[in-house]
Amino acid sequence: MESAESALNTMTRPVPQAPGETFSVLIAGGGVAALEAVLAIAQETPGLGVELICPTPEFELRALTVGAPFGLQAPRRISLSKLCQRAGAKLRLDRVAEVWGSSQRVLLDSGEELFYDALLLSPGAARHEALPGARTFGGGEDVQWFGEMLDRIEHGAVRHVAFAVPAAVRWALPLYELALMTARQAREREAHVEISFVTHESAPLFDLGDAASDRIAELLADAGIELVLSRAPAAFADGMLRLEDGALIDASEVVSLPSLSVAPIPGVPQGRDGFIGTDPEMAVEGLDAVWCAGDATWFPIKQGGIAAEQADVAAAAIGRRAGAAGPAPTFAPVVRGALLTGDEPEFFRFEGDGAGTASTAPLWWPPGKVAGRWLAPYLAREWSGGENDPLYPLEDLTVGSEEKDAARHREALDLALRFAEVDAEQNDFDAAVRWLDVAERLNVTLPREWSQRRIEWRELSGAER
Ligand SMILES: Cc1cc2nc3c(=O)[nH]c(=O)nc-3n(C[C@H](O)[C@H](O)[C@H](O)COP(=O)(O)OP(=O)(O)OC[C@H]3O[C@@H](n4cnc5c(N)ncnc54)[C@H](O)[C@@H]3O)c2cc1C
Repeated sequence: MESAESALNTMTRPVPQAPGETFSVLIAGGGVAALEAVLAIAQETPGLGVELICPTPEFELRALTVGAPFGLQAPRRISLSKLCQRAGAKLRLDRVAEVWGSSQRVLLDSGEELFYDALLLSPGAARHEALPGARTFGGGEDVQWFGEMLDRIEHGAVRHVAFAVPAAVRWALPLYELALMTARQAREREAHVEISFVTHESAPLFDLGDAASDRIAELLADAGIELVLSRAPAAFADGMLRLEDGALIDASEVVSLPSLSVAPIPGVPQGRDGFIGTDPEMAVEGLDAVWCAGDATWFPIKQGGIAAEQADVAAAAIGRRAGAAGPAPTFAPVVRGALLTGDEPEFFRFEGDGAGTASTAPLWWPPGKVAGRWLAPYLAREWSGGENDPLYPLEDLTVGSEEKDAARHREALDLALRFAEVDAEQNDFDAAVRWLDVAERLNVTLPREWSQRRIEWRELSGAER
């Protein structure tokens, strides 16, 4: 392929970056990393010719699907054409099929070829069953069976659910959320079910630091969930969860998370399971002018906040390549996690040393589930109806200032009320009422007019069922 490519390109390759020519940036992907990069370039180095290449016209925040079986929040989508339009980028519904590095071109599924001055690859990763015999929760399509399992728990048909993290899964936050929310719903509905959490980790979510691990262990204990640490599950069959050390745990249902791999992209050096190696500026090893960000990279923590941080680094490096001033950016991960519990969410932040921070007050603003510097504010703005508000980058909050805490409290309350309103406008009165419940928890009582609306929406929600 490379020889055909060179023959073709010696004839047709455009001269990159002639005076007056736009620096052309191709971004492959339509997930967290790709959208963060589009927004970061628009905000920080505007004027580049950015084109997003993605097979689907919408983005769905997979992180939120974890709340969906509990009716907490319906998965939300945004239009990529609208985001691109606002960011001054083009959208092309296609896929990158091959990268021809020596001539700085990509071949698309449609057969078209495109030249780039800079290419950012963010194709994410494919999900696979990691624990044979267990149910695998990977987002959207799994909401239904999980909801059905909750119904069976409510009707007493499930004796013991084990949530299990096999060795192939490093980032298990969604499974902790599912376990905690299952326990809470069972308690609220007076269903009797035993719940265990079995993990290879030496402490819950150790990637978030000791403060987070301690807090999560406390939440599990309070919820009556048995925590089994440092024991890797191996398989589930005939009502028994077998651990790698040979021990057996009796269980009626076992829920796990997927392992990941990256599909081959010819022309791109890929390592084990297809993951793509980069340097600290997120430049792909062995290729010039190509960067990679997100789940597809070598970095072992597969998390949206991390994907967005990598995208910001890549966007800044691309900006420098296009001539922008500024220091060379490097990837220095800060892990931010928002844990849904069925009660107030818990926020965690870890910067690589010390114990990290755990708090029930948001540790960043806006307190999005995926803490992207530009994507979190963009989604918060879209979903709260403030489309025309200016976009400010995500801000880390410090804990302990009373004034700031009060301001935060007001903002959080406002956000919950606005989400309630949006859900009610979409006739999702069940979700609207739940948002009012969240607002009530934040504020102890609801503002009066909202109490009235809750009565009305509860009636409408009852009529819906
Ligand atoms: C159930 C669940 C809950 C989660 N909860 C959280 C959470 O609370 N917080 C958090 O930070 N993270 C969470 N995550 C992880 C987070 O969703 C991922 O880390 C994040 O989506 C990775 O972003 P990405 O851009 O690398 O990949 P993705 O978001 O998977 O996007 C990849 C995109 O690339 C496109 N694509 C694929 N191949 C090509 C190609 N060849 N050319 C062009 N486009 C291509 C795909 O269509 C897709 O649009 C959760 C994940 C799951 C499954």
